Amino acid sequence: MMTSRRQFLQSSLLATGALALPRTMLAGGTVSRRAAGGRVVSTWDFGVGANAAAWPVLARNGAALDAVEAGARWAESDLCNSTVGHCGYPDRDGVLTLDASIMNGDGSCGGVGAIEDIEHPVSVARAVMEKTPHVLLVAHGAQEFAISQGFAKKPLLTDEARKAWREWLKTSEYKPKMNVERTRIPGDEHNHDTLGILALDAHGKLAGACTTSGMAWKMHGRVGDSPIIGAGLYADNEIGAATASGVGEEMIRNSASFLVVELMRQGRTPREACRGAIERVVQKRPAASKNLQVCFLAINRHGEVGAYALHPGFVYAMHDATPGPHDKLIAAESIYGGGVVR
Ligand code: ASP
Repeated sequence: MMTSRRQFLQSSLLATGALALPRTMLAGGTVSRRAAGGRVVSTWDFGVGANAAAWPVLARNGAALDAVEAGARWAESDLCNSTVGHCGYPDRDGVLTLDASIMNGDGSCGGVGAIEDIEHPVSVARAVMEKTPHVLLVAHGAQEFAISQGFAKKPLLTDEARKAWREWLKTSEYKPKMNVERTRIPGDEHNHDTLGILALDAHGKLAGACTTSGMAWKMHGRVGDSPIIGAGLYADNEIGAATASGVGEEMIRNSASFLVVELMRQGRTPREACRGAIERVVQKRPAASKNLQVCFLAINRHGEVGAYALHPGFVYAMHDATPGPHDKLIAAESIYGGGVVR
């Protein structure tokens, strides 16, 4: 059964008791407390579940790399929604293809693009990183490599996703939805979004991962930003880490996650750096930027967190060891919306 974001958000918040809080959505901006024992942040409301899967690794002083892989694996198989993992919507030919990457703050990284019928692309990305001389494998080659590493091949497309695709065929219009005010629309389904997850561990090391089924109804063979290091993900232990969600072509055009990290290197806070990358997207294609969503999330080596989006609606989840509710959903500011969705 497909879980809408709204339903997922409610069940996550209920599970964590966060609905008892006076405010479940906190104001955006840089979160500046230093987190002893580490911190994990993830994109969108489903980031709550990803963080919950990642946190036990950090809590036992494990590596940020293992934490982000655990979080992304949760999104790939435990979550059932239309934009990440096994319940994702297919391309315009009805084929579900998945993109993922993983990066360690020491510069090691791996990715897979347009892989089919493999449940955990993030772990295949990690295998690319650890067991090949390469960074990115795509399509059939990525699948062959995965099978050679012991990953099982299994059909992933759900009946619901197939039904949605058949419905889409009636108009065959490719129009990425912006998902503004997404978390307030009951039952609203979405045709893109990515789980991007960033962690700082107790040893002061950073890592990130992202995983997605990409843009629904994309052309067969299209690869988005998520498996491309520097576009959908970047991590550098000296500075910080960044990840992205939204229309991936914009992230690729602007090497956007790398840009966020480089802006932090120049002294900007994570929030300012994310805003700077959003401004670059607007500057490059002002007209196009009015009708599509782009979102960035960043953490620096001190554990400060920030985000920014083109349009309102982007939320991220944060989990650390500070006292109080451990699952915080934070709404990002946006260039066109001006403010924060509450
Ligand atoms: N960035 C993803 C892609 O372009 C989709 C998203 O995050 O909304 O494939």
